[in-house]
Amino acid sequence: MALGKISDSHVVKVAQVLRSLPDLDLASRKPIRTARSKLWDRIGAKSDINGTDFEHLSFSSVLKLMAGTEVWKQALLRLYSARPCTSDSPYSLVFYGDEVTPGNVLAPEVSMKFMAWYATLSEFPLELVCHTSMWLPLAVMASNKARTLGGVSNVTRVLLRHMFLTERISDDGVVLELADRQFCFYFAIKMFLFDGEAYRAVWSCKASSGKRPCLKCDNVVNDKGLASRDPFLLDFSSHDVSKMVKATNAQIWANADRLKAKHADRILGRCTKAEFDKLSVATGFTFSESGLVWDVDLRRWVRPADQITFDSMHNLYSNGLCQFECSLLFGRLFSLGFEFDDFRTFINSRFNICRTLGLRSHLVGCASQKRQNHLKRSGTFVCNASEMLLLRPVLLHFLQRVVQIKFDIKKELASFEALSDMCMAAFSVKRTRSGQSHYQACAVQYCRLTKVAHGEDCTKAKHHFALHAENECSFDCFAGERKNQLLKAVAQHNRRGARREFSILTRAVGCQLDELETCEAFRDRLHAHKESCPGILVSKHAFHQGSDLQKDDVIRASTGEILVIRGFLDVSPDVGWSCSGIVIVADVYLFHRVVTPHYASFALSSSSLVQVRSFELVPVSYFDGPNFIVALS
Ligand SMILES: [Zn+2]
Repeated sequence: MALGKISDSHVVKVAQVLRSLPDLDLASRKPIRTARSKLWDRIGAKSDINGTDFEHLSFSSVLKLMAGTEVWKQALLRLYSARPCTSDSPYSLVFYGDEVTPGNVLAPEVSMKFMAWYATLSEFPLELVCHTSMWLPLAVMASNKARTLGGVSNVTRVLLRHMFLTERISDDGVVLELADRQFCFYFAIKMFLFDGEAYRAVWSCKASSGKRPCLKCDNVVNDKGLASRDPFLLDFSSHDVSKMVKATNAQIWANADRLKAKHADRILGRCTKAEFDKLSVATGFTFSESGLVWDVDLRRWVRPADQITFDSMHNLYSNGLCQFECSLLFGRLFSLGFEFDDFRTFINSRFNICRTLGLRSHLVGCASQKRQNHLKRSGTFVCNASEMLLLRPVLLHFLQRVVQIKFDIKKELASFEALSDMCMAAFSVKRTRSGQSHYQACAVQYCRLTKVAHGEDCTKAKHHFALHAENECSFDCFAGERKNQLLKAVAQHNRRGARREFSILTRAVGCQLDELETCEAFRDRLHAHKESCPGILVSKHAFHQGSDLQKDDVIRASTGEILVIRGFLDVSPDVGWSCSGIVIVADVYLFHRVVTPHYASFALSSSSLVQVRSFELVPVSYFDGPNFIVALS
């Protein structure tokens, strides 16, 4: 659904779907308000935070509402038939919270920032969870308001208390009516995905700015001197994963509780501020009376050591390692006399991207004059996550084919190639939910090579976070990020009005139901309804995943057909192909060679680039990661 389509009419439609209202008159505002109120009666909930109302959604009610759609119903039934759910063996939630900033990357409207919380089921297959409609919105709150209510940690805590202690979704479960039968679904949490400021806020920790940048490690510190004196400690810039000691929940809670006791001592005058601050630094926590980690009732369900997840989208793409690496790289290139204009010329030249995957203007926009000015001024290269997905392979190609001919950039290129390998490995883990050790080896290699290229001090907290490979790549926030875009658009309708949470959430749920009704169970395998674009037809039967392809399989396609092959080439690098008159559009560095342009059977591996006739060379990445497109002309 196009974001521009969002309007109150969706809410009206929802009300009609609910059959709670007869035909509505769209011309009048009143029935729309009535419809949204009716919707709210069904899914809304209210919690009290220090005497202030916090309007959010009830997890079980919104789940019941979604279970009424065919897509959710089938997904839940499939889940249950694969593994029935009991209170001892619940389904696992992925709980995601992120700050949404209206405006754009160069001109964010910081005062309009709000936090949004969502959840989905980790058991859903990848082809479902990549759709935003498979994520349940739970709450939104303006960041300014959250600050006055004990912070994002407290709001998250209140939301979780509602789910686990009021709705009792773990102990009593949620009764769902599916296909004329009642099922009871129980839920536990598998992962918490919070990035940057949200991570710091929710876990009341100092993260990269503190001495203890990573809650998941018991021995990682941000202090090279300290780490060199104590053999147990490890500086966070180290890529030696064998020395990382995983913290347990008990250790994390004990640290938090020590700080709480010290805080009580401080109030009673039994310790000095300096002593309290020292413990705060040593434990890595910033004490907050209403912080999530201090909620003893919730500790049964909220287990930071197991559930904190530094997801790969935030580690790599959303103000992540790719952006850091680009900033360092451009800095280095400028020092060698490189002109950014050359890069702009390159990007503006021959790239033709299937619109299903992203707009060419997005790629071109990455090299705009404004971005260049910002880069020159601040030394920081800015672009959002989906722009980075398009840009990374193009930039790699540019470095390999153009820049290194003129400049000696061996070390920088090795680092960028290692980063690219890590990106591919992360995508592979997400797709197959296996291969974590290969991913980690790539992360270690990248972390080592970036220090070789850009100096020992170039690492950030995300370099360390990316070394974690427990849950980190199996689930990421691309869908969440897209959902943020939807909420951002929805929020434009209510910029300063009253009941902002109610307004945003009812519209978001309306849009979600509308999407679920019209998506034909995502049968086209596309994330959004983008079925055609000029000059290219995107097959409705887009080739998906290729998991059933064997080494000797040959794909035959007829002229005029386009195959979208997602995440496939890196699985079976030497699959043979046979087609004629092809145009290849691909994540360039994955194509190894083409035998002939006319009988284009080719083997694929992870280096170099091929060119087939005068094809439009091209990087393509689906929103969620690399994709490979073969277009027959
Ligand atoms: Zn760590």
